[in-house]
Amino acid sequence: MTPLFILMHEADNVAIVVNDGGLPSGAVFANGLTLVDKVPQGHKVALFDLPAGAPVRRYNVVIGHTLRDIPAGSWVHERLLQMPPARALTGLPMATVKPPSMVPLDGYTFDGYRNADGSVGSRNILAITTTVQCVAGVVEFAVQRIKAELLPLYPNVDDVVGLEHTYGCGVAIDAPDAVIPIRTLRNISRNPNFGGEVMVVSLGCEKLQPERLMPPGVIPITDLRGESQDEVKLDVVCLQDDAHVGFMSMIDSVMRQAKVHLERLNQRRRETCPASELVVGVQCGGSDAFSGVTANPAVGFATDLLIRAGATVMFSEVTEVRDGIDQLTSRALNTDVAEAMIREMDWYDRYLEKGLVDRSANTTPGNKAGGLSNIVEKAMGSIVKSGSSVISGVLSPGQSVREQGLKGLIYAATPASDFICGTLQLAAGMNLHIFTTGRGTPYGLAECPVIKVATRNDLARRWHDLMDINAGRIASGEASIEDVGWELFRLMLSVASGKKTWAEHWKLRNALVLFNPAPVT
Ligand code: CA
Repeated sequence: MTPLFILMHEADNVAIVVNDGGLPSGAVFANGLTLVDKVPQGHKVALFDLPAGAPVRRYNVVIGHTLRDIPAGSWVHERLLQMPPARALTGLPMATVKPPSMVPLDGYTFDGYRNADGSVGSRNILAITTTVQCVAGVVEFAVQRIKAELLPLYPNVDDVVGLEHTYGCGVAIDAPDAVIPIRTLRNISRNPNFGGEVMVVSLGCEKLQPERLMPPGVIPITDLRGESQDEVKLDVVCLQDDAHVGFMSMIDSVMRQAKVHLERLNQRRRETCPASELVVGVQCGGSDAFSGVTANPAVGFATDLLIRAGATVMFSEVTEVRDGIDQLTSRALNTDVAEAMIREMDWYDRYLEKGLVDRSANTTPGNKAGGLSNIVEKAMGSIVKSGSSVISGVLSPGQSVREQGLKGLIYAATPASDFICGTLQLAAGMNLHIFTTGRGTPYGLAECPVIKVATRNDLARRWHDLMDINAGRIASGEASIEDVGWELFRLMLSVASGKKTWAEHWKLRNALVLFNPAPVT
């Protein structure tokens, strides 16, 4: 294959090598540049002679300064770069950019499950909420029995899931930050894919009592049967209840209650819904230098299509947008939104400081092996998932778009950790999850379909039955960003309508991981 590099911006002085397997020293590019080092795929090559201390630009952003003279054609890797400090959170451009108004995209629909509260599910799942990890084994046992004995009787229900987690006891539950894991769990129970049916399994003596998790007034029941919301009693199976004699009586209780909810869930039917009912969470994991060149720009293009169709899209991952905060505050709808974004960044800066680290703790050995020298470079590639629309709102960790009355492009502040980000986006109300990966991860969730986008042809070829879309074709010139963006948009509509993703096909399910910044005891 002809030696190829990709330049992200005309002001850049580095570009990344496209060819599978990288390129040997002596390889000559079409513009005459000759490699003086062997350069791995996805890694940077110096386009010009860079003297010591020179700024290295990618995405027209300074990703670092050279630690020594670097001749043109050299491999520019992390050990040759000094990372710049994080941009201060003062003096930022606030809602200064007015992105051109986009033409609405009408007529796109999917077949979803409309809920009583107005939200729309993409799946029909019985979720069993747990207040504490202590009950996880019992719930898992009951879920297996429900799947084997009850689910076949309710053919319109897709699945039964125990919402297991490690929170609920042994924690400082009155600490201010405990609000995050508690509201996360509460809002996950109300995810649109669960049809407003909430049943809880509690131990009895735990700190997170069912009434604390689900105070009266927040319990969503699809069919209120004439009762007012305040009169609806939370459906709780308490394992320490005196009525339980022996393990099987606990299992019987859980199964008896599950049946009540399965009856109602089984009445749900898919109906044609406008694409505006989609609530899409986007994130990346196992990123490489192609993430920001192929998959994430294609996701960004699809994000713009979704916003034009009136849908809600959440992007997240604080440490992966921190270095681009000025791009985001400038795109905010108004100064309130920009200030909310700064507030979330500032909270996270202090959270990291408490652990004696900063945002640079984000990058993994795999990121670096994939060509991403540092968090600045990674962030520039991560942010493009947000497309180019106005940012119309901000969610703090664990909040939901419905509760906050938000629509459009939303910044949902979450850690970048794949499982924690996914968990928080579930709480925010997502009914579809888009996940890009360059190194490759088999990520999946039981609660919501996950569409995985490969950044490279090589990964898409080897993981052909794990990756749902191959954006690597953008780097090899076989497809444009627009092509893959439209393909992804159409795939989203069919997956939201019931088409299974590879992760669903193989039943790949990562754990729910609640973000608990408060102390444990
Ligand atoms: Ca992630």
